[in-house]
Amino acid sequence: MVSSSAAGSRQQVFVLVGGTGDLAMRMLWPSLAMLDQDGFLSDNLRIISVAREDCGTEVCVDRIGNAVTKRVGESLEPGTLARFRKRIVHVALDAAKDDWGAKLKAELGDVDGLDVVFFLSVSPSLFKPICEHIERAGLNKAPNRVIIEKPIGRDLASSKVINDSVAHAFDESRTFRIDHYLGKETVQNLIALRFGNVVFEPLWNSQTIDHVQITIAETVGVGERLGYYDEYGAIRDMLQNHLLQLVCLLAMEPPSALSSDALRDEKVKVLRSLKPITVDNVKDHTARGQYGPGFADGHPVAGYEVEKGSPSNTETFVAIKAEIANWRWAGTPFYLRTGKCLPSRSTEIVIQFKPLPHSIFGSEAKANRLHIRLQPDEDISLTVMNKAPGLTAEGTHLQSLDLSLSLIKAFEGNGEKAPRRRIAYERLILDALQGNNAQFVRRDEVEAAWMWVDGIIDSWTKTSMKPQQYPAGTFGPVSGYRLIERDEGRTWND
Ligand code: NAD
Repeated sequence: MVSSSAAGSRQQVFVLVGGTGDLAMRMLWPSLAMLDQDGFLSDNLRIISVAREDCGTEVCVDRIGNAVTKRVGESLEPGTLARFRKRIVHVALDAAKDDWGAKLKAELGDVDGLDVVFFLSVSPSLFKPICEHIERAGLNKAPNRVIIEKPIGRDLASSKVINDSVAHAFDESRTFRIDHYLGKETVQNLIALRFGNVVFEPLWNSQTIDHVQITIAETVGVGERLGYYDEYGAIRDMLQNHLLQLVCLLAMEPPSALSSDALRDEKVKVLRSLKPITVDNVKDHTARGQYGPGFADGHPVAGYEVEKGSPSNTETFVAIKAEIANWRWAGTPFYLRTGKCLPSRSTEIVIQFKPLPHSIFGSEAKANRLHIRLQPDEDISLTVMNKAPGLTAEGTHLQSLDLSLSLIKAFEGNGEKAPRRRIAYERLILDALQGNNAQFVRRDEVEAAWMWVDGIIDSWTKTSMKPQQYPAGTFGPVSGYRLIERDEGRTWND
């Protein structure tokens, strides 16, 4: 956590490097505009857009206005855009040029009285030159801080190079690594659910939980990101970060406090407890797939290799049976899967409880299940057995009942105006502005995750395990089903 006294009295400046890019336009500008509308930005906060394009402030701000309207137009109140636009200045700077820092400094003015938050929404290959420019210009001094986006490397070694280059300018407490899943309301609610209730925590272990499933399914293919994606694949693009962060929040021990280090200390222990997947079990514990011809999202898909125009060994689907070697989780696998061109766009977690030790209702009693949906809707439901109303010849007849724990639904149910579903980046940008890094990923987490993932990729290479083709629009290759169904009584919650 950055000292609030250091940042408190200073004028804040948010420097969005890559301000004309896709991520900025779709997510970051709309998030900032909504924070402004809701009164979370201090009156004197300035925003500097930095990019290679020399489009000038007026054109840049028009594009930002259009992007904000496209993303959150329905929620915009009169006056928001006009006020927001006034905060923004666009500066054309090429990170490859040496005068980057000096020009930015000139734009910033008297830097001693400032609290500057840099968001590097650019390729990680630019983190090093940009951090060097920032350092040379003396813009890296506390309380200034930096936010960086994935991918943080494509393996442990390259992640260290990136982290070292950032660490040269900003110490760990002022380096904010975004995993936007951590900004999602339902993901934050996992902490509330687990540690704000007494009813779940005593059951939250391998005595009671049979297994956990986490699925991040996308209907889209790789599209224009093919160049990047072919170097990464599903395991590096989605599993190393988003999926493993969800595993951490589900599996960690209760932290001693809600402070950033207490939380992240517990998360990193989970990552370090993941059982290595080796050449001996990689074929049973993982599945790799690549989409072939088919239909996804209502459109015909030619297939990954046709889109690429050459053969590829990159997986667009990965499923993993992960095991956590500690007292709480021994014997309870976490089945993880993610992929592109799947039949639905959804992110969900299923906590499957064990069956009753003895059922007095015959086979009618089904095991409890906690279902946490993050996408497309955010919702948490608990399936419990309940007596069906009425008289039946057989006696008590059970039915399963979904208890919705969704915060948003609860508000709607009370007749109150439901809170707006926020963009995940809103929470994270606000936290970074306030210097709170609890929902950002610490360096040791990134490295522990890569260490485990590197072992899997290495085992794929050593066993020549190639991705199996699956028709676009299906839930991955047969091996993805086999991975879970090999374990008796378990199947994906499709
Ligand atoms: P983009 O190519 O659309 O935009 C890149 C931005 O960087 C542009 O504003 C461009 O002007 C600027 N830029 C490029 N070279 C520069 C240079 N030499 N000097 C100064 N500015 C330069 O990229 P994007 O899709 O917005 O992605 C940005 C980063 O976020 C990447 O690291 C990407 O991997 C990551 N990311 C993107 C998404 C997404 O949905 N787009 C999602 C997660 C992570």
